[in-house]
Amino acid sequence: MIISNIAILIAMREEANPILNQLKMDMIADGFDNHLPFELYKGIIEEREVHLVIGGKDKVYNVDNIATQPATLSAHVTIEKIQPDLIINAGTAGGFKKRGANIGTVYISSDQLKYHDRRIPIPGYREYGIGAYPSLKTDRMAQELNLVPGIISTGNSLDLTDNDLEIIQSNNADVKDMEAAAIAWVAMLHGKPFLALKAITDLIDTDSPTQEEFLENLSIASKNLGQAIIEVSKYCLNKPLSEL
Ligand code: SAH
Repeated sequence: MIISNIAILIAMREEANPILNQLKMDMIADGFDNHLPFELYKGIIEEREVHLVIGGKDKVYNVDNIATQPATLSAHVTIEKIQPDLIINAGTAGGFKKRGANIGTVYISSDQLKYHDRRIPIPGYREYGIGAYPSLKTDRMAQELNLVPGIISTGNSLDLTDNDLEIIQSNNADVKDMEAAAIAWVAMLHGKPFLALKAITDLIDTDSPTQEEFLENLSIASKNLGQAIIEVSKYCLNKPLSEL
């Protein structure tokens, strides 16, 4: 079976803008149950239909639906609706200067996705909290497309506590985001191949405040992200999984 149907999940509108514009993607009205805030778009890459889902706005707070709660739900309804044969979670993230990250670097998931903020010190639940959800093997495409292979760790906060940092380090993570592990879990439940692409907006181990760096670099990181999504999609489409 070849890959012919990719679903791309992106949390924030601004992260998605470059690819929406570049592919001139059309929004599909009534994409999902109208209780849900998610927005479904359709475009063409390599003559194949590609679907993109963004989190939409929270009606109460009027901000984008970010982090694991909407990510989990949107992944599930997207898989049910689109029946994709590959799921890509694309977004921005924090990186570590000491692990070689720069603003705008695009990482591709190279190993299992884990959490760093689900601390449950009860036997069995400790490991459950951290989790370990599969990523597709991406070493060949990383090399061919000049993407940086990296380990991604997910939590529900943009800031960083000492506890979180300790677990990020024991996860051996290069990248800190707020959605990837949640989506990887849903992909695993459905038996669907998953990979994540994360463009760095902020360097966690430098002095500048994360939120300022994030807003300053969102546009450049999203531009790089859009490029990477297109390249990865072109690489994967029309190939069997075993040849990736
Ligand atoms: N104040 C911002 C909030 C963005 S939260 C705004 O609304 O404009 C950050 C988003 O980018 C999340 O979806 C997350 O996945 C990603 N992200 C970027 N930098 C991150 C970091 N240092 N830690 C965790 N997630 C980060």
